Amino acid sequence: MNNYSIVLLPGDGIGPEVVAEAVATLDAVAAPRDFAFRYTEQPVGGAALDTHNDPLPDAVLEHCLAANAVLLGAVGGAKWDHLTGAQRPESGLLKLRKALGAFANLRPVMVPDALATASPLRAEAVRGTDLLVVRELTGGIYFGEPRGRAPEGDGEKAFNTMVYHTTEIERVARIAFDWADKRRRRITSVDKANVLVVSQLWRETVQKLHDQDFPAIELEHMYVDNAAMQLVLNPRQFDVIVTGNLFGDILSDAAATLGGSLGLLPSASIGGPVGLFEPVHGSAPDIAGQGKANPIAAILSVAMMLDFLEQPAAAQAVRRAVDAALDAGARTADLCRDGHRRVSTKEMGEEIRRNLPTP
Ligand code: NAD
Repeated sequence: MNNYSIVLLPGDGIGPEVVAEAVATLDAVAAPRDFAFRYTEQPVGGAALDTHNDPLPDAVLEHCLAANAVLLGAVGGAKWDHLTGAQRPESGLLKLRKALGAFANLRPVMVPDALATASPLRAEAVRGTDLLVVRELTGGIYFGEPRGRAPEGDGEKAFNTMVYHTTEIERVARIAFDWADKRRRRITSVDKANVLVVSQLWRETVQKLHDQDFPAIELEHMYVDNAAMQLVLNPRQFDVIVTGNLFGDILSDAAATLGGSLGLLPSASIGGPVGLFEPVHGSAPDIAGQGKANPIAAILSVAMMLDFLEQPAAAQAVRRAVDAALDAGARTADLCRDGHRRVSTKEMGEEIRRNLPTP
């Protein structure tokens, strides 16, 4: 029997509420199968600042590095807003991603039939959207050197450097091609090759990898400005989108709006030996402790974790159960409209677990 060791980092605000439902779902999906989970709960973000004066204590990081996977809730809140630099709750998260060598961020966006009317876009434009954004996470303009500010003339200049090495492009593109291979076998590589030299290398490298190793996958290149427009006009055209850090940051947030609530969106940061799985949303202090948080993003994050742990049938079972709960009309406050059954965080988790198909 496989016994996976999982570090839980519930964090702040609604983090602990949604992580509790995700963990109960992991246990429920594992129970009838030949694997199980061992959990170690550790503090991160504001919770770790309160107890250890450090948003990611070294001992917590060591637990994470020794685990099979890490599940994070969310960090941050007004109580820690006055802190700066390395003392901020979010800096614990950045340190964690870096230490785990997580160079690829995966964000799937699905708009099932039951949620099409919750989208800010027209239901007929988004219904059936099922795309995956693969964003390079540890390179590009957010990390490039030189960066800085310097006096110039009467004023000041400021500069950042967008830089990518072929190996950085290849490794994230390979992850994207592998996912495309498991999905609808279509990949859109997004760049700005008409203007940026670094994008020209990006495009050449992705094309070369495609021709050498993934010729059966349909590859198209798209400029980032067009990609932003196409995501809003016709998101259904996309299967896998692969792009650099800056463009991925912006496009994945634009894609995040398609389903109508941040509470639906899972993510995975992978590339190193230990994957980090977390909902896209933050700690939502406005609804924390009230049982209003939507646990679906956290629950779909553990579906991604199950894929990463090579338990695809269990991952699929979790996704089906989420769809079934939504089809049955259960909605947390963020998505509740006339005709829906309004449920709490815990009730939504229970509804999903009741709908888990038997293996
Ligand atoms: P947020 O994602 O916490 O909340 C934005 C809005 O979405 C709020 O109205 C909130 O109620 C709603 N929302 C978010 N998740 C929801 C869910 N699961 N169910 C229902 N509604 C949900 O973003 P924010 O308000 O900009 O930030 C709040 C705090 O979270 C800040 O301290 C910020 O720094 C932090 N933050 C952390 C992360 C992270 O941990 N990965 C990401 C973003 C923001």
